[in-house]
Amino acid sequence: VNQEPPGLRGQVPLAPYTTFRIGGPARWLVEPEDQTQFAAALRWALAGGVPYFVMGGGANVLVHDTGFDGLVIVTRRLDRVSIDGDRVAAECGVMVDDLVDRCLEHGLTGLEFAAGLPGSVGGAIFMNARAYGGEFAGVVEQVDALVISAGSVTEHSLEGSGLGYSYKKSVFQKGAAYVRRVLLRLKPGDQEQGVRTAVENRRKRRDAGQFAFPNAGCIFKNNYGLGRPTGSIIDSLGLKGAREGGARVFEKHANFIVNTGTATAGDVHRLIQMIEGKVEQELGIRLDREIVLLGF
Ligand SMILES: Cc1cc2nc3c(=O)[nH]c(=O)nc-3n(C[C@H](O)[C@H](O)[C@H](O)COP(=O)(O)OP(=O)(O)OC[C@H]3O[C@@H](n4cnc5c(N)ncnc54)[C@H](O)[C@@H]3O)c2cc1C
Repeated sequence: VNQEPPGLRGQVPLAPYTTFRIGGPARWLVEPEDQTQFAAALRWALAGGVPYFVMGGGANVLVHDTGFDGLVIVTRRLDRVSIDGDRVAAECGVMVDDLVDRCLEHGLTGLEFAAGLPGSVGGAIFMNARAYGGEFAGVVEQVDALVISAGSVTEHSLEGSGLGYSYKKSVFQKGAAYVRRVLLRLKPGDQEQGVRTAVENRRKRRDAGQFAFPNAGCIFKNNYGLGRPTGSIIDSLGLKGAREGGARVFEKHANFIVNTGTATAGDVHRLIQMIEGKVEQELGIRLDREIVLLGF
């Protein structure tokens, strides 16, 4: 029998689950309370042929205005952390910014680069999130994953070296494995200095206006082969401030699109396509999207 996951809800608006504050409803949504429920929700979707999507902090997704005709599994209640020596075990739904503080409380340093980074540990592992000279690939020792193969879900431990990490890439982007829990290895270090760095990194984000409007961070990846960040490439075409409905290319950072209050996913998507078109037409450069589209 394909038993319905506990707490399953129908027609749940997704906008509040995203930092963009945009998007229509999920046909079904569930927020597993433990790892057994997480795996069970995936099994339910697989057995029923229901499309599914795993959502952490929703800080890197654009949800279609008509929503998603499938199951969204929100991981935010999977938020347990345990710390043993220099090893930190965190479930996928732990918010990265909270984890930075938990580690520092235990005198462990090395995660301060991620202070102020919106989203969950699972999402950060998926994208190999990076900031201020650090990236998740540098601190991950092991990931306990749910692996989907031939319609079944099994648990596997993947070593850090087997995660296919490079710039903003990981094996999880192939969509056949999900992060349950992460084991990080940090360093016992200067706690006060670590706290100062974390505070400073959060301040830099605030000062850059990153939290002034709902957004989803960078829309495009950088291409280091081009010698300058994608934001400056977009800016060089005079696109800062360009608008589509309620969506706007952010004046302070051209690789951000902000929701000025009334943006639809359609507005944002048109703006993305406009930027891609201009950059390709005028500079012959194909931009690589970082943002994850859901329901498109
Ligand atoms: C203001 C702002 C600033 C940002 N700055 C940065 C930055 O400096 N550096 C940076 O790298 N990013 C940045 N981002 C983007 C975002 O913070 C990261 O991509 C973050 O890691 C997304 O995590 P999430 O939990 O919100 O993922 P979500 O948006 O929920 O999901 C993103 C992808 O991860 C997948 N995913 C989520 N959980 C799991 C899981 N348990 N297992 C497998 N896959 C999973 C989803 O299926 C989806 O494909 C920024 C975003 C915002 C809003």
